[in-house]
Amino acid sequence: MNFLEELLDLVFVPRCLECGAKLGEDRRACLCGRCWASIRLIKPPACVSCGKQLMSDLEPLCGDCLEATHIFTDNRSAAVYEGVMRNAIHLFKYKDKRKLGRYFGEMSVQALLSTGGLSGIECVIPVPIYRKKRRDFNQSEVLARLIGEAFGLPVHSNLLVRTRDTRPQHELSRGERRQNVSGAFFLKNGQELDSRSVLLVDDIFTTGATANECAGAILSGSGAKLVRVFTLARGE
Ligand SMILES: [Zn+2]
Ligand SMILES: [Zn+2]
Repeated sequence: MNFLEELLDLVFVPRCLECGAKLGEDRRACLCGRCWASIRLIKPPACVSCGKQLMSDLEPLCGDCLEATHIFTDNRSAAVYEGVMRNAIHLFKYKDKRKLGRYFGEMSVQALLSTGGLSGIECVIPVPIYRKKRRDFNQSEVLARLIGEAFGLPVHSNLLVRTRDTRPQHELSRGERRQNVSGAFFLKNGQELDSRSVLLVDDIFTTGATANECAGAILSGSGAKLVRVFTLARGE
């Protein structure tokens, strides 16, 4: 290739936003197949309560869950929140790479199917964003819709409301996380969830503070039977 060809190639050939390789047929939106394949999916054994990847199956619970109780019934996650996964979620949420949503949806459905499916669940609720914020894109709602479609469940995205702005949980310490989301959610029209079993959907599970707050708001604001949680990625 001469210089001009190299230059044109550099400017116009779509490249992986993670590693810079040319994107081929195995691409997943803006990521190459190799980077996507490096995402660490959560495989058994995982904590039966919070979905954290465990190294051995001697104990059903992780160290955190031995000490803490959760308001939600359990959490399942598709992948470990690290490396390519962390960057891909960032691209999806903040860099307008919305085509990743489809692949995250497929990953989520696979993870749910391989961990017992959604039997007994009657509706899906995404963790809401703060509506007055300029960003109008709710990544959790995209996931909730894809999951709802795959499992034939209704998605309620207007019942649970975030009443104030909060900082991203993964930027905070454990103590700050609980405080950050304390009282930040409110359930409207709770009668719609009467005696329902709900799946709450979010993108990242760190300590479970957000899932607990949302489950608390749902259960105290309605006669819902239980809240299970699904998150795309689980912190280590
Ligand atoms: Zn790549
Ligand atoms: Zn756990």
